[in-house]
Amino acid sequence: MTAQEIVRAWGRILQGKRPSLSIEITRECPLRCPGCYAYEPGHPGEGLLLRELADYKGDALVANILRVVDDRRPLHLSLVGGDPLVRYRELDKLLPLLEQRGIHVQVVTSAFREIPADWAALKLLRITVSIDGLQPEHDVRRRPATYDRILKNITGHCVNVHCTITAQMMQRGGYLQEFLQFWTPRQEVNKVWFSMFTPQKGASGPEILSRVQRERAVEDLLRLRKLHTKLDMAPAAIRAFLNPPASPEECIFATTTEVLSADLKTRVTPCQFGGTPDCSQCGCVASMGMAAVGDYKLGGVVRLQSIYKTSRRMGDAVAKLHPIPRKTKMKGRAA
Ligand code: SF4
Ligand code: SF4
Repeated sequence: MTAQEIVRAWGRILQGKRPSLSIEITRECPLRCPGCYAYEPGHPGEGLLLRELADYKGDALVANILRVVDDRRPLHLSLVGGDPLVRYRELDKLLPLLEQRGIHVQVVTSAFREIPADWAALKLLRITVSIDGLQPEHDVRRRPATYDRILKNITGHCVNVHCTITAQMMQRGGYLQEFLQFWTPRQEVNKVWFSMFTPQKGASGPEILSRVQRERAVEDLLRLRKLHTKLDMAPAAIRAFLNPPASPEECIFATTTEVLSADLKTRVTPCQFGGTPDCSQCGCVASMGMAAVGDYKLGGVVRLQSIYKTSRRMGDAVAKLHPIPRKTKMKGRAA
């Protein structure tokens, strides 16, 4: 983020607005990844399932996303799913229009299909490809978005790679290093980020890291960032995995990002995970990055988190005095 963007983001917070918006643009995904939070019961809200929400297609999807964006005017927009490439024709129309509006856009995808060549010319677009570990594990978990397909589908693009570390990956030493050795030499890869698997409260499952595994992952990342410059994670952000925000209210990322699901009405709360995520075991790289910024002491005295909280309270008060109408009129009917 540039200094100018930080100032603009702060301005939004003081107006009681959220500078970032994330939209699940479709309920569909051809993959069935184990541990996927988007399709967990209750993800979009209690008693709701993403696959059962109505969503939009074609021109109605393009027009309605623009309406939402023009209403919220975010500085940064994430387009997620399901898999957003299910709607690649709509994105072909939408992405240039978002670029014209000066909005930084991130498309998060499994790259199960070819990324359209024209997208490489969009300056404000960042494509993030989710890769679940080394080829033998990834190809089982993410079929049909296998390594071979990803390599073919990202040709001619410059993408960021995002990997969610699971307990299975930490069962043997050197796993993260091998991952970086495979992906960082490729010219299509710009940056690599790691998250850690984030469970819901009270959940059990093979992906959940033990405390010891989490500590080992942090040690590995701190060492590996010196060897692989494309591993774009600051030491403070890596260390934040050991001390995640205590609650959604303490999470700068959650409180600065509005998440809308596929019907473009339902708000996913308290953060992109939906449901009741276990903040004490949070592994979201964005949340850790923000937590590290919040921990920074201005002039060595005041934590930025305290200034942010005060700004947010002021913004909430402003928003109460001048409520922002949130009834974006949609085009067409969601199906
Ligand atoms: S690609 Fe993403 S949305 Fe689709 S099943 Fe896998 S994790 Fe879930
Ligand atoms: S991103 Fe992590 S810390 Fe923030 S609200 Fe969600 S689970 Fe909690």
